[in-house]
Amino acid sequence: MKRDFITGDGHVEARSSILPLPGASGETVGVRASDFNSISTVEGQGDEWPWTNETVSSQSFQGFPLTPAHSPCLRRGERGKKRTVASCLFGSPSCGLLRRACLAIVVSALAFAPGVFAAEEPLLEVGIAVRDVTPEAPIWLAGYAGRKRPSEKVDSPLLVQAFALKSSTGERLVLVSLDNCEVSHAFVDPIVKEVEQKHQLKRGAVMIVSSHTHSAPVLEHTLISMYPLKEKDFEQIQKYSQTLRTKLIETIDASLTDLKPARLERGVGRATFAMNRRVYREDRVDFGENLEGPIDWDVPVLKVKGTNDTVRAIVFGYACHGTSISGDDFYIVSGDYMAYARQHIEAVYPGTVAMYLTGMGADSNPSPRGTLLDAKRHGLELAGAVTGVLNRPMRPVNGPLRLVYAEVDLPFVDPPSRDQIEKDSKSDDVYIRRRAEQSLKLLAEGKSLPASIALPLAAARIGDDLTFVAMGGEVVVDYARQFKRLFASDHPWLIGYAYEVPCYIPSMRILKEGGYEAQSSLIYYGYYGPFRGRVEEVLVKRMTELVGATRAR
Ligand SMILES: [Zn+2]
Repeated sequence: MKRDFITGDGHVEARSSILPLPGASGETVGVRASDFNSISTVEGQGDEWPWTNETVSSQSFQGFPLTPAHSPCLRRGERGKKRTVASCLFGSPSCGLLRRACLAIVVSALAFAPGVFAAEEPLLEVGIAVRDVTPEAPIWLAGYAGRKRPSEKVDSPLLVQAFALKSSTGERLVLVSLDNCEVSHAFVDPIVKEVEQKHQLKRGAVMIVSSHTHSAPVLEHTLISMYPLKEKDFEQIQKYSQTLRTKLIETIDASLTDLKPARLERGVGRATFAMNRRVYREDRVDFGENLEGPIDWDVPVLKVKGTNDTVRAIVFGYACHGTSISGDDFYIVSGDYMAYARQHIEAVYPGTVAMYLTGMGADSNPSPRGTLLDAKRHGLELAGAVTGVLNRPMRPVNGPLRLVYAEVDLPFVDPPSRDQIEKDSKSDDVYIRRRAEQSLKLLAEGKSLPASIALPLAAARIGDDLTFVAMGGEVVVDYARQFKRLFASDHPWLIGYAYEVPCYIPSMRILKEGGYEAQSSLIYYGYYGPFRGRVEEVLVKRMTELVGATRAR
């Protein structure tokens, strides 16, 4: 059958597609040209499953499975011999015609029912590995410029988790979830190159996704100018960074040697603690809580089962900053709400690895926020959303893995004159001063100031069932909303903070409005900006090409 698709530059193309499966909660079933300017996402609505509309509250986050109490058939079965749905259907007095009609319906329904895999499709192989990267001694924590000293205690362990995928075609992808604020190109590139070479992986096949917790150690070459570090602090950061490099490589290696056939299923839940943080004043945009602002509350979930049906891993995502913790709890090491969600999920599914992949919600903060308790509450809500999805029928994910990777050059406007930079180096604002000092150092070495960044982009498709759409940097929510519309039929799972984080990635709307994500955050990243030109248009066009390339047979 034919369906219409919107391409990046807005024109409509028609192509054949798979039979449209009903969308899970929050997913778009399909986009028609006529729908494009109206609403195209089925928000918060279940579909054909009447028991799936429920978002399980944090107070009862185990949710409710389809128990005998929910099925009259199975309830009757409790009293006598064990009965199946089929025996219940056909065991009742009915004529042969009805029986044949029912059989036809059941057979055709089963062909597309959640949880049913096509017998002829070889299974994907999945490998999972986890290593602890909790710092052993006090260390400066990354993400907030306001901290005054190193950490004082640890509340939750920090982890590196790797999830390797291999399809029967030989294509491989390793998704790595890292409990840290972010990694720079300088930090991560040598690690990725080493692993790529060792395992003959193609560029883009190792995707390190930072969780963006603001309560994990500062890393070498990453936002260093944010903190007033002494020599002793630098030494600790170097030591920790070296340990983390070793553990990252070890975890990726281990995931690739753990590959074995697996059954994957996906679904989408919802958690509502992400809040748009851009508040409009008369002449500026401030941090705050904007109830009207765009957010992405979807919680994508991937269940990974072994061939013996044990649940090996539960991968989940959310689009929100890891900034629940601040103030008095500034000096506690923690993975923030993502880590607490993981702990709750693993408590409900013992023996399973729960793994978090950050979404595209860099202009969202958790609400409320401020204390460790807020992080734990949000973790409980997120775990509730995940287990709610797991307790409902999920959709099978299988088929060839196809990965397409690119780097897109995003230019900044011309830097200020040397005179201006020298003036900046005497500024009362310590962060403006540090950026200027770094820039003058570069100029003194005969180097030029950075004129652009190279942003990693990737699309990784599994059959026709799921497409990871990933972008480096702190990606604002406008991209999430646009990609969900454009790639609706590809069943997108959006990942931000992927590969490396050079800076924020603003949309055109945010660039026009200004504020932290457009302009002032660049001070901490050491760049003069903002971006030049139509950043969003360039990125959307390129991502559309990448996703399109994964569709090719
Ligand atoms: Zn951030």
